[in-house]
Amino acid sequence: MHSDRLLLGPGPSNPYPEAIEALSRPVLGHLDPEFLALVAETAHRLRTVFGTRNRLTLPVSGTGSAGMEACLASLLEPGELAIVGVNGYFGERLCEVARRVGAHVQPVPAPWGQTLDPQALLDAQRQTPQARLVAVVHAETSTGVRNEIAPLRALQDTDTLLLLDTVTSLGGIPVEVDTWGVDACYSATQKCLGAPSGIAPVTLSDRAVARIRDRHAPVCSFYQDLSLLDAYYQGDPPRYHHTASSTLISSVHAGLGRLLQEGLPAVWERHARVGEQLQAALPEHGFVLFAEPGHRLPQLTAARLPEGVGDTAARKALREDFGIEVGSGLGPLAGTGWRIGLMGHNAHPRPLTTFLAALPAILT
Ligand SMILES: *Cc1c(COP(=O)(O)O)cnc(C)c1O
Repeated sequence: MHSDRLLLGPGPSNPYPEAIEALSRPVLGHLDPEFLALVAETAHRLRTVFGTRNRLTLPVSGTGSAGMEACLASLLEPGELAIVGVNGYFGERLCEVARRVGAHVQPVPAPWGQTLDPQALLDAQRQTPQARLVAVVHAETSTGVRNEIAPLRALQDTDTLLLLDTVTSLGGIPVEVDTWGVDACYSATQKCLGAPSGIAPVTLSDRAVARIRDRHAPVCSFYQDLSLLDAYYQGDPPRYHHTASSTLISSVHAGLGRLLQEGLPAVWERHARVGEQLQAALPEHGFVLFAEPGHRLPQLTAARLPEGVGDTAARKALREDFGIEVGSGLGPLAGTGWRIGLMGHNAHPRPLTTFLAALPAILT
């Protein structure tokens, strides 16, 4: 038995039909010219979605966390300083991974549910201008908060790089890598991009590429060394590094094709519309929205459960009686709240009305 769920949690989301269809194509070798052309076209599509002209733009093997580790491991050397905005679970994970690659971490915190203060991040950089990078999560999936990135463009005038997590934002809300002066950016395919999990889109600015080239010590991880991945996918001739999955990249390529055919503005618009409708409806059912107004993500809504509703039992009923998955709460919402995603192919009216229709039965 393998159930067909409506995936309305914080990811994975149900992929676009085109992305699922592509999974059944014949496997190609990892150095087949046809496969490398597929990678190049996928990278081209990713540049459009990221809003960048960066040459180093790649579908890295692994999930979003692999993108996070590849960027931090490739850009940070042991003993260097990383300033990290922390207003939720994924900001904390950035700190954890940066420490594991040997960096010193200076967190710049904000309460869960509130947005980061960009000025506080810029002030931290001014006080420690030797910091190698400032890292921020664009869409904090643990709280449903959107952090403001555009003001951090001021880091372009310093020697500190800007690293951005767009795992939950890419394909759901506008991401403008070049306009915002982002030096390193990673995402994942199973959230708003509408493909299965397993690929982490990554893009690096020229100055981030130069930083890796000028490292004193080699990147601590062979597998996550972005300069080796660059030499594999874009080298002349391509240099074997690992056996990348043509199956997954075909799927991502097809999902991105569908997304770009619809057009980014239209895709952002339907995420905005269904998210707004969900956030208008939840309080009528007794939920309390968690993220501060004005900074709520349409694609991911965190909300406290109505008084008297048990988290585990209600999610079990939703799954077993209606085939719908939502996410449990993290941090202050653990055991008392849900995270509801309307991402990618699920950012359409039907998944929303299906979820809202099921609510009365499982909240009693
Ligand atoms: C999901 C998520 C990740 C981790 O991605 P995985 O694909 O689960 O490894 C990282 N950052 C954010 C903001 C996320 O939402």
